[in-house]
Amino acid sequence: MRLSSRPSRARTELDAGRYAPTPSGDLHLGNLRTALLAWVFARSTGRRFLLRMDDLDPARTGAEARQLADLAAIGLDWDGPVVRQSERLPHYQAAIDRLTAADRTYECFCTRREIQQAATAPHAPMGAYPGTCRTLTESDRAELRAQGRQAALRLRSTATEFVIFDYLHGYYRGQVDDVVLRRGDGIPAYNLAVVVDDAAQGVDQVVRGDDLLSSTPRQAYLATLLDLPVPRYAHVPLVLNAEGQRLAKRDGAVTMADQLALGSTPEQIVALLADSLGYTATTAAGLLDSFDPAHLPHEPWILDGNGLLQRSRCP
Ligand code: GLU
Repeated sequence: MRLSSRPSRARTELDAGRYAPTPSGDLHLGNLRTALLAWVFARSTGRRFLLRMDDLDPARTGAEARQLADLAAIGLDWDGPVVRQSERLPHYQAAIDRLTAADRTYECFCTRREIQQAATAPHAPMGAYPGTCRTLTESDRAELRAQGRQAALRLRSTATEFVIFDYLHGYYRGQVDDVVLRRGDGIPAYNLAVVVDDAAQGVDQVVRGDDLLSSTPRQAYLATLLDLPVPRYAHVPLVLNAEGQRLAKRDGAVTMADQLALGSTPEQIVALLADSLGYTATTAAGLLDSFDPAHLPHEPWILDGNGLLQRSRCP
């Protein structure tokens, strides 16, 4: 059992950073800020920058095109065509087949509620799947199927923790459990797809919101089981509203379209994002020269309307 990701290999010109939005709606200023950071991290280190749509759940009509237009409007460019997870299903299945052939998977019939109940039992590891379905016999499974229960497929993990390296958080040790590989509805799970895709695309630098930090040891562990390299990570602080909650549409004029409609220019939006990171710049390219990851804020950016054109808040 390996307890941490292997040391990174020498970087090659094929290495890449990426931004991987979910096309479920318009990007808000927090998403744009994370995308800008992912781009600056990649470009300032000579990497390719890739865009991938995490569209395993059906995309909202028009969302992908609007997201791409907004990213271009703040000055981001990317290499090669946009990759869509919905077009890569055979690759996820191949990874699942490989893990299954190595006896690393099992069917799980638990409902969300059953998992929650089991996870709150005394001595259950916080937030980890408690392994209820690990030891089901074939006849147990047949019975559950006969009841019409749909099975998810889980990893049979032999580790409980894994260590990753993060530019902002340093060495981060986090929980590993029997992560879902394929959901009950048959759709590959995000945690599997992201690992398969990053490796296939040569992504060795993953910059994303720090809400995903706690999932990352699971993903890195999964990568090692599939003999795939583990990227280096930068989990960047989220943008929160004045109440300390994650920024959302109800917080007012938080999307590019909202801001443009109120008279902001893309340059002003870049300037606002740059300012929140401690830089003065009105273009993405302008950030490149002075960018230093060591000086990034580690605290969330609280967006309370100061310096931001704000329409009145929705009730
Ligand atoms: N699609 C995920 C999101 O929009 C990000 C996944 C990732 O960067 O790994 O939150």
